[in-house]
Amino acid sequence: MGEYFLFVESDTPFDEGMTLPGIDEGEILVIRSARRKRNISAYRQGGRIIVSIPARMSKADERAIVPEMIAKIRSQEESKTPTEQALAKRIDELLSELAPQITERPVSVAWRTMRERWGSCTGLDQTIRISDRLKLAPDYALDYVLFHEAIHLRHFDHGAEFTELLSRFEGSELASAYLDGYEAAERALAEPVELKKLRTK
Ligand SMILES: [Zn+2]
Repeated sequence: MGEYFLFVESDTPFDEGMTLPGIDEGEILVIRSARRKRNISAYRQGGRIIVSIPARMSKADERAIVPEMIAKIRSQEESKTPTEQALAKRIDELLSELAPQITERPVSVAWRTMRERWGSCTGLDQTIRISDRLKLAPDYALDYVLFHEAIHLRHFDHGAEFTELLSRFEGSELASAYLDGYEAAERALAEPVELKKLRTK
């Protein structure tokens, strides 16, 4: 089920939220701006895509243009995102280099929509999942999470052995700072109160 928010930024009359067909992931925020006469812009802000359109744009035009803008943003992001094969290869490299005693390799590595965690490793079926919030992250932050989850292939908890292995990753402080900063920014950009009233079913 799609979640689609219509948020009236300017003094234009209050509008009803609606659901757009074909949009079924993440949050889309459409801002009708009185200041914008002609320009349409779209950009990513945390987990959201914000589409800014002129206040006077018709509903029909909005329905046509918003999905187009979203598709454009997603395809741009997709082209910069490492493939799941690349993630698996990177895990192999990190383990070979930093923890050669871990000979296990994941059966699969997959991107997942995860808001509460950066990654997960299921010891039982050797599956690693990485939060899609890392799709555009710098290499050192992604590597740090990949290595963390890869150590879990052998060590299920965060005990002494786990910690020793993880400490072999250089730049873990920088990576932690990036991840903490990302989470802080997400909290700061938390859904405005007005949006909650407009959420559609
Ligand atoms: Zn862990």
